[in-house]
Amino acid sequence: MEEFDISCPYCGEIINVLVDGSDGEQDYYEDCSVCCNPILFKMSFNEQNKIELRVKRDDD
Ligand SMILES: [Zn+2]
Repeated sequence: MEEFDISCPYCGEIINVLVDGSDGEQDYYEDCSVCCNPILFKMSFNEQNKIELRVKRDDD
């Protein structure tokens, strides 16, 4: 598990999330703990096999 600080695409608050890279690359939704909107997390691996996490709004 790796910790990431991401900025919520809805309310802009910095939230701390735990990412499990053992299942490979995936997209998933998790509700923002501040504004409760569904954040789309896109998890992938870079060339160094490090987890890269991007967040998007559901309606983007
Ligand atoms: Zn939020």
